[in-house]
Amino acid sequence: MAESLNITKLYGENVFNQKVMKERLTKETYKSLLKTINLGAPMSADVANVVANAMKDWAVEKGATHYTHWFQPLTGRTAEKHDAFISPSAEGDVVMEFSGKQLIQGEPDASSFPSGGLRSTFEARGYTAWDCTSPAFLKKDAAGNVTLCIPTAFCSYTGEALDKKTPVLRSMEALSKQAIRVLRALGNRTSSRVSSTVGPEQEYFLIDQKFYEQRMDLILSGRTLFGAPAPKGQELEDQYFGAIKDRVSAFMKDLDLELWKMGISSKTKHNEVAPSQFEMAPIFSTTNIAADHNQLVMESMQKVAQRHGLVCLLHEKPFAGVNGSGKHNNWSLATNDGINLLEPGYTPHDNEQFLIFLTAVIAAVDRHSDKLRAGAGNPGNDLRLGANEAPPAIISVFLGQELTEILDALGKNKEARSHGQHFLNVGVDSLPPFPKDNTDRNRTSPFAFTGNKFEFRMVGGSASISGPNVVLNTIVAESLDLVATRLEKASKKDIHKECQAIIRETVKKHKRIIFNENNYSEDWVKEAKKRGLPNLRSGIEALKTMNNASAIQLFSKYKVLSKQELHSRYDIYLEIYIKNINIEALCSIQMAKTQFIPTVVQYAQQLADGIASVEKVKVSAAVQRGLLKAVKTHLENADKRLAALETQVAKAQNIEDLEKKAETYRDKVFTAQEALRAEIDALEQLTPKTLWPVPSYADMLFKS
Ligand code: ADP
Ligand code: MG
Repeated sequence: MAESLNITKLYGENVFNQKVMKERLTKETYKSLLKTINLGAPMSADVANVVANAMKDWAVEKGATHYTHWFQPLTGRTAEKHDAFISPSAEGDVVMEFSGKQLIQGEPDASSFPSGGLRSTFEARGYTAWDCTSPAFLKKDAAGNVTLCIPTAFCSYTGEALDKKTPVLRSMEALSKQAIRVLRALGNRTSSRVSSTVGPEQEYFLIDQKFYEQRMDLILSGRTLFGAPAPKGQELEDQYFGAIKDRVSAFMKDLDLELWKMGISSKTKHNEVAPSQFEMAPIFSTTNIAADHNQLVMESMQKVAQRHGLVCLLHEKPFAGVNGSGKHNNWSLATNDGINLLEPGYTPHDNEQFLIFLTAVIAAVDRHSDKLRAGAGNPGNDLRLGANEAPPAIISVFLGQELTEILDALGKNKEARSHGQHFLNVGVDSLPPFPKDNTDRNRTSPFAFTGNKFEFRMVGGSASISGPNVVLNTIVAESLDLVATRLEKASKKDIHKECQAIIRETVKKHKRIIFNENNYSEDWVKEAKKRGLPNLRSGIEALKTMNNASAIQLFSKYKVLSKQELHSRYDIYLEIYIKNINIEALCSIQMAKTQFIPTVVQYAQQLADGIASVEKVKVSAAVQRGLLKAVKTHLENADKRLAALETQVAKAQNIEDLEKKAETYRDKVFTAQEALRAEIDALEQLTPKTLWPVPSYADMLFKS
């Protein structure tokens, strides 16, 4: 019988959370630490020393020998360098030590992380600084190592952010400050902080390790660069929410346990649309913690999968022809005393505070939809966005019928009415009527209001969620700043009137961003153009919008990213884009040269030999001749396209200017690689399966 799990006991057992702090610190130290965590108060050296010592004792009791400042460089992944707690004593033995200084600050040799010119290699100092708002945790590996991981921000000697976390923290500050101003103006005296909250739903694929190991493209680039479609894809819609296979279920159970122990609230798991595709959603938390946790989720998925003989693919588009993986970024605003500012209640029309925050978000998205799109741009996402499975590259907001009607009426200065709480009757007596949500779903919208939060659906499966949330927080901070300034100018008795005016004007000005219909339709592309909404189809175009005057003005005004930081990020992301396509191209070349073409040459030889021997005995070899002809045609084409790809790569590699280089990789190298793929895929469909050197789409997607 399966042993019963005491989830409440194991949940968070590897986290130095507030419960542990309370147990292990004196009342004063604990209070002082909470002040730093919740209000950003400075921490004294004494407190830091005491906390460090308590943390070390707790970690060592749980088997830890090392600690690491865990950070998130601009590679989009995480980084860690492990130091043992040991400190030599005069007698020649060691004691386990960890000081406040070691807790608060670290100095990894950071010269090999991307810095986009913010640090020259001769002054490669980079500092890590403890982010006490995200709890320290223990990581355990299969070899039995236990490491105390301290979430940290990573910056240069001159204080510039070199990581994904710093701007998240800065954007949360900016957002809180402006949101509190609005709340104060509306009469709220109790909330002292507003945080953005995020629940990222993580999509992923699982395939059998034995298939993975035979595919150089998956190993090196995370996606299949070749592969003819399987006869079956996702058209029967039989995978989505289907019964979970035992093997996958065992993986999911293991994953849940791993995550729960680290205090990550994995809550929902299910089969996704594409074959072999799945999803995990945690319970939402503040953005900073959600971003840290999502990194750990991705890492744990890959680690746990291996234990089950599986490989977890997080790439945005691992397989052509079936859905790719995204990360729905559910986002809302919560006060520290528990109010969700995007909760409409049953009568949203007279919920002024809700309408003010709702319209502020709408205005923000309309003003800066290009930046939001950039926040979700990564090389893999170019293959996914706009592919009729993921939102198009055009950003619009879905509100649903009721809210749209209310905003329409308010925009026209007419009386607005809520639908109130509706009950849905299914027409079967034994099924109870149940309350209906205010908004229906629209799966095609990139930015959808879903009841009491917005769901940003563009983020890529492998991406850090930091970037998009930095953009969201900052653009909404700006919107709220404008609102707060108006409300603060109005006299107390005129606040209601001013609110109505703000809502009315915002709706009028920004209603073009609202779109409740099918975002996948061609008509929408035309309509969006008429409305003047940007359609940034490529990641490069999107990236540019984070490096222009408007971005510099916005992000520096709210002290989220300086001009230099934006520039350096732009360069780094372009370089990453270039390197990705370069790796894919080189991998395609190698696979074609050393695997596919030799296989097909061998097959052609077999056919030719066969034809000769069959015809020798005066039997017709018409079928073999037909096959050989088809093979020959595609083989020659493949060879030409291989040469073309090699030429394009060589040309692109020689370009100095980053922007031009990235564009060349996109327009020339990527397309040459796709052209080669088409020929190789055609050959796959002509060649006996027993000869084909790599597992097929059908193997990977249906036999894993
Ligand atoms: P869906 O039906 O959209 O697939 P899921 O249950 O998979 O929904 O995911 C919804 C996500 O939204 C969860 O991670 C959930 O915790 C998160 N969420 C719910 N409320 C909020 C909120 N106020 N702020 C941020 N995220 C939220
Ligand atoms: Mg979901």
